[in-house]
This record gives sequence, structure tokens and C-alpha cells, in this order.
Amino acid sequence: MEDLKARYGQALMNTFGPPKLVLTRGQGAHVWDHTGRQYLDLLGGIAVNSLGHAHPALVEAVTTQLQTLGHVSNFFATEPQVRLAERLLDLLGAAGNGKVFFANSGTEANEAAFKLTRRTGRTHVVATEGAFHGRTMGALALTSKAAYREPFEPLPGNVTFVPYGDAAALAEAVTDQTAAVIVEPLQGEAGVVAPPLLYLQQAREITSGHGALLWLDEIQTGIGRTGAWFAHQNPAVAASQAALADIVTLAKGLAGGFPIGALIATGEAADLLGPGNHGTTFGGNPVAATAALAVLDTIEKEGLLEHVTALGHHVRSELDKDDRVTEVRGAGLLIGLDLSEPVSAEVTSAALEAGFIINNPTPERIRLAPPLVLTEEQADSFLVAWPGLLDTAYGTSP
Ligand SMILES: *Cc1c(COP(=O)(O)O)cnc(C)c1O
Repeated sequence: MEDLKARYGQALMNTFGPPKLVLTRGQGAHVWDHTGRQYLDLLGGIAVNSLGHAHPALVEAVTTQLQTLGHVSNFFATEPQVRLAERLLDLLGAAGNGKVFFANSGTEANEAAFKLTRRTGRTHVVATEGAFHGRTMGALALTSKAAYREPFEPLPGNVTFVPYGDAAALAEAVTDQTAAVIVEPLQGEAGVVAPPLLYLQQAREITSGHGALLWLDEIQTGIGRTGAWFAHQNPAVAASQAALADIVTLAKGLAGGFPIGALIATGEAADLLGPGNHGTTFGGNPVAATAALAVLDTIEKEGLLEHVTALGHHVRSELDKDDRVTEVRGAGLLIGLDLSEPVSAEVTSAALEAGFIINNPTPERIRLAPPLVLTEEQADSFLVAWPGLLDTAYGTSP
């Protein structure tokens, strides 16, 4: 099986760098590699495996649906698709006042939303520095990282980047020509960066003042990740419940590992895309929709929002105790921290060596996005190991 890594190198395009492990199996918050070694998965497939691995509710829902009706095409409707759309609108507080378009990934949800903004008759979009919105040409045009963008320019234009969390800069950039402002409630890929608590509300006021759409990218932060259904509804992220956004995009955790993306638009924005304006072959297929419904049901049934809030507090306060950690950020189980030295890669390898999967989005930052079903005991096993992992990475002995 070591041989699989070599074969990977021969057969797969080198877009991700060499894989760290060959994984063969998962259960709950654990995965196993090809040697049978167990790891605690504190990344959850990058905030995707909300119910962990092989959750019986997800397995049962997907299996039954696939046995019943797996794919139709968007010439036809299925009940799971309609139920999921209704459910998401409900959770957003937009029942009867919004519509959903289903896609298969985050970047596709954002691409659809970007096209929707063009139907306002305006083309200017304001995005934020440090933002990540995906890899298709449109989503990439809204993503700030030069290294991702430059090899593919020219990208769709008329995008202004402003510093994240800076309401004055946003007010300066938005004009009556602005179609939309796109913003993440917490910047996930940047290492879980939080804006001031009033920021989203200010973004709502600024956009409303110019007839521009407010577009929240909740692809990483949505569906229970922060302890609320949507991060912008979480008082730990947005001071007063930010007024309804015009556009919300979702993907990662929505179907617990089954590929899905969703564009939700509310109010007048809900009718901007009309017949022929956009499409998809797979989007909204009944298996993906059923998987998402199972995730939503399970979050509710298992009381995971409360669990995620409480466990997140515990983990963040414990991580904060080490002097080598200079800042801990995030909400619920989307957690980012800054190290006093640029050794996040070393910390991540020391963790892997010790049986923990974590992530290093920047040289100084560590990100955790474990399954929402992570238990306190599992979290504690990591917290106990944490100082030793820092010792190893910093090159000091315990
Ligand atoms: C992951 C992510 C995307 C892109 O999603 P993909 O499914 O990888 O295309 C877009 N926006 C945010 C905030 C993300 O975290």
C-alpha cells in the first residue's frame, strides 16, 4: 500500500502536493490509515464531515435513497430536493421569502451567486482581503490570494478588495454601481479570522444604503459549525443578529461529506435568476439532498448546536493556556490559533505523528474543524497531548 502514494504521484495531477496518509476507514471522529493506525480527525475533511465518519443516520439515508431513486435531472422534481430547500429557508428565517439553487460544491454555489449578482444590471463586487471563495474563474475573481489568482488572469473584473472587518473601508468602496458585497462571517481558509462583532450589521447597512446585495459566504461556517445554524446568527460572531442577507452560500458541512452546494437568495434577489440563466446536471439530486436532510435532522436530534458551543468554549480556553499560543479565535468547532513562531507545519506533523489530524492554513496558524460529534473525551485526548506537540515543534524537550 506504500506503493499507493507512488501510484498517486503517477496517476493524479499534482495540484495538492503529496498526500500525507493513505486512509482506508473512518468511524465517528476517527480515521485509520492503511497500516491500521488510528487518528483523531480534528479537521473533518476541512469542516465537511459534520457527523463524523460513517454516521448510521447518514449511511441509512443515503443507502435508502440510492436504492429508491438516485438521480433524475432537473427536468424533474424530487421530494428531498424540495424539502431541503424549504428547510434551509426556514433555518435562515426566510420561509416564504427566498429561493434555493442547488449545486455540487462551494465554488459552484458561489459561481451561481456571482452570476445572480450580474442580473442586478450592475457588475461591481466588493470582496475582502484574506477571503477564500473557491477556484472556478468567477469564484477565484473574488478570492484575494495572489498566488491562486495570478496564474489564471484575466479573471472576471470589476472586483474591489477591502481589508476584512473594516467597515469604514467597506463604506468607502461600495457605491450605487455596486452589485454585491461578498463576505465570510469568519474567514476560514485565512486561519479562522473574526471581524468585529458589528461588522456584518454594518455591511448590511452599507449595502442597503446603495441598493447592493449582501452576500454571506457560509460555505465553511454554516450548518452548525459555529454552534448556530448559520454563523451570522451566532451572537459570538455577529453582535445583534445581522439582518437577513440577500444571498447565503453553503456547501462543506451541509451533507456531511456528500458533495453539495447551495445558493440561497432572499427577497427580490430570489427571482434574479430566471429560466435559462443557470443550470446543473447533478445539482439538487435526491441522494445529496437526502444526505443534507439527514445531517440537519441529526444536528437537531443529537442537540449538536449546544454541544458544539460548549465543547468549542472548552477547547479554545484550554488551547489559550500555553504561552506559545498568542491568540485563539473562532466560534463553536471552527477554531483558529496563532503561534508565537512560524512553526505551524512542524506542529501539524508532530500532531500527525501523535495520531491527530489538524491543519496549518498559514505558517503561524493552526485550524481545527472537527466533526460536530467530537466528544469531550476525544477533545481532551488532544488537549493533553497539545503542549508536547508544541515542545516537539519548537524543538524544546518536555
Ligand atoms: C471551501 C470554501 C469554498 C469553496 O468550496 P469548494 O467546495 O472547495 O469548491 C468557498 N468559500 C469558502 C468560505 C470555503 O471555505
